[in-house]
Amino acid sequence: MDKRIIVAIDGPAGAGKSTVAKAVAERMGFLHVDSGAMYRAVALWAVENNIDPGDDHKLVPLAESAEIALTGGRVLLNGRDVSTEIRTPEVSQAASKVSTIPGVRRELVMKQQEYALQASVVMEGRDIGTVVYPRAQVKIYLDASPEVRARRRVEETGGDYAQVLRAIRERDDRDATRADSPLRQAEDAVYLDTSDLDEEEVIAAVLRIVRERTSNGRGVTS
Ligand code: C5P
Repeated sequence: MDKRIIVAIDGPAGAGKSTVAKAVAERMGFLHVDSGAMYRAVALWAVENNIDPGDDHKLVPLAESAEIALTGGRVLLNGRDVSTEIRTPEVSQAASKVSTIPGVRRELVMKQQEYALQASVVMEGRDIGTVVYPRAQVKIYLDASPEVRARRRVEETGGDYAQVLRAIRERDDRDATRADSPLRQAEDAVYLDTSDLDEEEVIAAVLRIVRERTSNGRGVTS
C-alpha cells in the first residue's frame, strides 16, 4: 500500500518557496499548502480590527476561531477571499509578530497537520521539517542571500529596494531568534542555495530530490 508523502520546504522570506512548492505540488499531483498564508490571515484579521499583532491574549482566541481555507491557490478567512490583502508589507510584518506567539503557533500547527491526513502534500514555511512534520520523507531548506531575495521581491511586487531589504532582514531576524520554533534547517534537510539559480533550475533540483527520496513520488512501504 502506498504511504502519503510529505515534502517540507522551509527557508527565509523570498527564497522562492512559494513558486517552487506550487510547481512541485502540481507536477507530483500533491496538495500545496502555504503555511505562511495562515499566519498572514490571522495577522490580517488583527490589523483590520486594530488589534496589536503582538497581543497574545487577543491573538490566541483569534487564531482559535479563525476559519482558514486554502483552496485552489486562494486563501479564505472566515469564508472571505483575502488572497490579495494578506500580501501587503504591513501584513508581512504583522504576520512575523503574530507568529512569535506560542498559542497562535500551536493552533496553526494543528490545522497544518490535518492536511496530511487527506493527501500527499508539499508544505512550505519556517518550521515544517522541524516541528509540523518532523517525520516528513523529504525536507528541503531553500536559501538565498538577503540581497538576492530583496531583488526578487522588488521584481515581483515592486517597491524600494533598500526598504524591501530592510524589511526582509527584520523578518529574518524575528523568525530566527523567536523562542518558539525559530527558523532553522532540520538536520536531515537538503540545503539548497538558490542565489545563482533561476526558477526552472530550482524546480528541477527540488523535483530531483523528491524523486530520489521517494519511489518516484510514491511512498515506500515500511
Ligand atoms: O512565508 P511567508 O513569508 O508568507 O510567512 C509570513 C510570516 O509567517 C513569516 O515571516 C513568519 O514569521 C511566519 N511563518 C512562520 N512559520 C511558518 C510560516 C510562516 O512563523 N511555518
